[in-house]
Amino acid sequence: VFNFAAGPATLPENVLLKAQEELYNWRGSGMSVMEMSHRGKEFLSIIQKAESDLRTLLNISSEYSVLFLQGGATTQFAAVPLNLCKPDDVVDYVITGSWGDKAFKEAAKYCKPKSIWSGKSEKYTKIPSFDALEQTPGAKYLHICANETIHGVEFKDYPKPADENTLLVADMSSNFCSKPVDVTKFGVIYAGAQKNVGPSGVTIVIVRSDLIGNAQPITPVMLDYKIHADNNSLYNTPPCYGIYMCGLVFEDLIAQGGLSEVEKKNAKKASILYDAIDGSKGFYWCPVEKSVRSLMNVPFTLAKPELEAEFVKEASMEKMVQLKGHRSVGGMRASIYNAMPLAGVEKLVSFMKDFQARHDG
Ligand code: PLP
Repeated sequence: VFNFAAGPATLPENVLLKAQEELYNWRGSGMSVMEMSHRGKEFLSIIQKAESDLRTLLNISSEYSVLFLQGGATTQFAAVPLNLCKPDDVVDYVITGSWGDKAFKEAAKYCKPKSIWSGKSEKYTKIPSFDALEQTPGAKYLHICANETIHGVEFKDYPKPADENTLLVADMSSNFCSKPVDVTKFGVIYAGAQKNVGPSGVTIVIVRSDLIGNAQPITPVMLDYKIHADNNSLYNTPPCYGIYMCGLVFEDLIAQGGLSEVEKKNAKKASILYDAIDGSKGFYWCPVEKSVRSLMNVPFTLAKPELEAEFVKEASMEKMVQLKGHRSVGGMRASIYNAMPLAGVEKLVSFMKDFQARHDG
């Protein structure tokens, strides 16, 4: 099956096979990773290797802490303002889709967020020009969602905070490790694992270490970056098996040649699919402005919406599953994360052409 789900999403086959091989007896330990103490030497070696491989992949310097947490990216919508702001601090949000909007609304409980741009009236199909952003002087941070999973809009570059003390913060849940990123531009990067790097249950936070230790007094212990940084993500029982799986994915991404190589493959897959949509003479349509189309999530509609259910059904019969668009926007969406093979996208495109030939006119 080719699984086009937006997350939890497809994982590399070789990673799953490796996990299967090690499931019952991890490297001669006589234990499954699921059974190991998180304080034992075996698991410590797993989490340390995962962190070190992620640092290699994203070129993360020692000035940043890498945390393996729980609660999904949604928990970070609260953790970010709680850790970075006092209740009266103003922060700026650029809202390019539903996830950015959720992050903005959650922040209002803990500081004073301002929406400085929203793409809602244009159905979240654009990224603003950075010059047009009216950033708030003295804002504590500027928050973006690097890739809006539902709408398929992706930042290709990042806005520079106008104030030198303003931090750039990004939700990278759905394009994490899909391409190289200059981490030094950011105060905080956070991502749920379940799209590109592992199973759900693990949330990765990359935070500049000097920002840690200023959480609001009401911050729950589980949301306080300092607690997790001081304890190397082992303050309480972490999602051990999920972290192990992320570690296998990081190894695999390094073996593929790192994120520049991964990006090339992603760009190729995305261009084949967008070309098919754009070349369909209006039978298929992608509403997103061309320059900001996501390499990860490709939403599209049919000129004849009454055929959409049939499209999804027939695709599924051909073993291409989870192509239905998000319930809030309808249409179709093909999520083509790192682990989606080129063959999956080629098969989808050939199905699309065949479907059009049978239903056009
Ligand atoms: N941010 C983005 C960009 C997402 O795609 C998602 C989930 O799909 C979330 C946040 C919420 O993540 P979680 O379900 O891990 O809380």
